[in-house]
Parts: sequence; C-alpha cells; structure tokens
Amino acid sequence: MSDTVRTRIAPSPTGDPHVGTAYVALFNYALAKKHGGQFILRIEDTDRVRSNTASEEMIFEALRWLGLQWDEGPDIGGPCGPYRQSERSEIYTEHVEKLVASGDAYPCFCTRERLTELRAHQRENKLALGYDGHCRSIAPEESATRRSAGEEHVIRLAMPSEGESTVIDLLRGEITIDNAQVDDQVLVKSDGFPTYHLANVVDDHLMGITHVIRAEEWISSLPKHVRLYEAFGWELPVFCHLPLLRNADKSKISKRKNPVSLNHFKRAGFLPEAMLNYLALMGWTMPDEREEFSIAEFISELTLERISLGGPVFDLQKLTWLNGKYIRELEGKELLERLKTQWLSDEYLLKVLPLAHERIETLQDFFSYAAFFFTGDVEYDEKARTKLLAKGKNGPQTAKLFRGLLEDFLEPILVWTVDSVEDAMRRFCEKTEVTPKEVFMPVRIAVTGRTATPPLFDTMAVLGKEVCRSRIRRAIEVLRTIK
Ligand code: GLU
Repeated sequence: MSDTVRTRIAPSPTGDPHVGTAYVALFNYALAKKHGGQFILRIEDTDRVRSNTASEEMIFEALRWLGLQWDEGPDIGGPCGPYRQSERSEIYTEHVEKLVASGDAYPCFCTRERLTELRAHQRENKLALGYDGHCRSIAPEESATRRSAGEEHVIRLAMPSEGESTVIDLLRGEITIDNAQVDDQVLVKSDGFPTYHLANVVDDHLMGITHVIRAEEWISSLPKHVRLYEAFGWELPVFCHLPLLRNADKSKISKRKNPVSLNHFKRAGFLPEAMLNYLALMGWTMPDEREEFSIAEFISELTLERISLGGPVFDLQKLTWLNGKYIRELEGKELLERLKTQWLSDEYLLKVLPLAHERIETLQDFFSYAAFFFTGDVEYDEKARTKLLAKGKNGPQTAKLFRGLLEDFLEPILVWTVDSVEDAMRRFCEKTEVTPKEVFMPVRIAVTGRTATPPLFDTMAVLGKEVCRSRIRRAIEVLRTIK
C-alpha cells in the first residue's frame, strides 16, 4: 500500500447529486490535499437497476462546480482503474473465489421462499432477524458440484457466529459488537454482481485508500468490512464516519424538509466557495472558531480527530446568510461574471427569448413578461391567486395532487426536457384519473405565478427541474394552509 494519503468519494449514481455527497467529498478532498496525496472518485454502480449515466454526469458536474476536482476517476483514468464498479466484475469474482476457497465465504442456495418463511418465523417468535447459516454446513465439494450444475445461488460472508468483534472508528474509538448480531452478508448476488460491501472493500484496498471517510450511516457495516479485510489478509485503512447532516428537527436531512440536490444550490445562486465553507462548518470548527474561511485555510487546519459528533444541522438560513457575505465581498466585475455564468448567460437568454418573442411589443416588455424566469420564488398575480387559492376550491386536495405529481413523477426525471416533463405530467393524469385541465393550470400558476404564460412544458423545461420543484413545494405549503 502506498504511504501517501489516498482518499475517495464513492457515490452511487442513482439520482440527483446530493448535498451529503459534497459534504463527504469535501473532507476527503481536503485531507488528501493537506498531505499532498490523491483524492479519488469512484462510481459505485453495482445496483444495475437504479444506476444511470445521467446521474453520474450530474455528480461530475456538481463536484467540479464546487471545485472538488479528483486526481483519479472514471473520466480521467488513473493507475488503479477502471473507476466504475460495473467495469470491474472480473476483479470481484476473482476475489470472492479466494474467500470461498478459504472458507471465509460460502455459496448459499436458499430459495426466496425459504428466506421469506425464515423471516416470518423469526418475526413471529421475536428472534433476531437475519440469515440462519443454513447453507454454511454444506460440504465444499457438494456446493462446488451444485454451482457447476448451474443451481441459482448467492455468495455469503461467513461471519463468526459467537463472541465479539471490536472495530475502530477514528472519531468514536473502539466499537464492540456481538457477532451473533451480524448477518452473513451477501457478497455476490444471484445475478453474479457484487454487493456494495464486497466491491467497496476490494476497491478501497486495490486503490490504495488509506482513509475511508464516509457518512455515519455506514458504521453498522463496519464489522462486515473489517471481517473482509481480515479474511483477505489486508491491512485496514483508517475509518472515519462523519456525522449525518440533519434537518432543523434533527431528523436525517431529507428533501421534504430541505433542498438536498446540489443542482438546486447552483441554480439558486449559491457561490461554490460559500457552499464549501458552510459544509466545512458541519461537524468542524476552526481552532480560532471563525466561521468564514477559504478552502485553502480549511485544508491547512483540518485534523480529522477534531470533527465533533453532535448532529450538525443543515440550516438553509445560515447558509444563505453566509452566501450573502461572500457576495458582498465580490468585486462588482466579479459579481457580473457570476451572473453571466447562469441567468445572464447567452445560453440561458437564448432559451428564454423564444418564449417571449411573440408576446412583447417593446424590448422593455421582455423584463416584465419574462421576470419569472429570473426570480427564485414567484408572487401569484391577481388572477392566479383567485384561480389557485379561491375560497371553496379545495386547497389541501390540490396540495395532495401536487405532492403526488412532484414526488412520484417529476422528481424522478433525470433528464429534464420538454418531452420528459410532458410525458410525466400526462402519465400522472392517466394514473390518477384527473383531467389535464385540472392539473395543468394549477401547475402553471405554481411555477410561474400567472395564468397566462408561454406553453407550459416549454416553460417548465427552461425553468429547470430545481426551480419547478421548489415553486411547486412552495405552492404545496401555501395550499395546505387554506381552510
Ligand atoms: N456507494 C456508497 C454511497 O453512495 C459509498 C459509501 C462509502 O463511502 O463506503 O454512500
């Protein structure tokens, strides 16, 4: 293993790029830079159903926007590639077979029915849930024969079934777990693909990762990971589980209570340097406790041991306040440049202009007609307010409609275009048996604040997913309070 510091961020490309990914990436990036080491981007796409390239692209873009540039990764290569797990299947197969040969892992032929029954039995009798080790006692020769005959199976890790294991997390110290509580984790699924656990450990080792800095939610997997390192005979990296970001009510950060997509923050006009500064404050305080500092200052001061475990609250108001400070510190010209990167870019203006072109009589009209393309929230105009919020109209009912549309149809869209938006809206109408008329006008009002606008889907496509999403969310809040 190399003796320089090597860290990594290992996102699964299954949705919009998450603020938690940026938070974890920041600490990994900073530690590598502090020690003149390397920061690696690895794409963990072993979930073949949920992984997709649109999401992968968005992760690249978001991390680049923040300036968290990786030294090795799927797009730029490096000495330990490939950096996309779906391209490393043979490596995992080769490694898991070593474990099967040494008895540290075993094929399991249990059918889905048996596992369902087992779980029901455990529930009924209030026993600990988990695999009962049924296939562990099959003789290696027998399981080899059954495997070569093509019998469906998974490969499981043979965890010690008695005693205790002690693992070490840098921030929490020794953690002792009763082995009986740790399941015989599936390492390879019946389709031959590895699970997160196997691929993650094999890759961290082969990529020479010295510090595994990741979210707290993985701490329960640590005993399995440590067992894997031991079974392979590999040296352990340092494990450091960062505290989870939380909503104001201390629950795990979630999109119902907070914007969590990095695309949102970019689109809403947060400065990347303010974002990084704010994320660095989550669990970390500078020795002199100042709250405003640059990434370079963070890098030079960072020591993982000083991260505190009290659940850091992601407070949008505070982030906005900090962002305001950064904006005020920009030179006028620099501010103009920032505006030109998005709303005043030719690219954006050329998308908005065609939607206003036919509808204005003086050039100045453009600014009032197209204002909603440039603002954050929208005010509902007189007509819109009467139509959407009129007494007698069922506010909570519309709120429910919006929520279904947003969460089940619009939010899952990864490539946001006129066609994908129209398709989602029409599918929603079919599924819920409401007429397009009943849905389209309220949505138009929610996303523009008006009843008369350019064509709805074109408008939504130009506004983008993040803006539409936050305006519909706001409409839900407004509607829910109507009596
Ligand atoms: N793919 C995992 C995730 O997206 C990585 C966890 C880890 O860093 O080990 O959270």
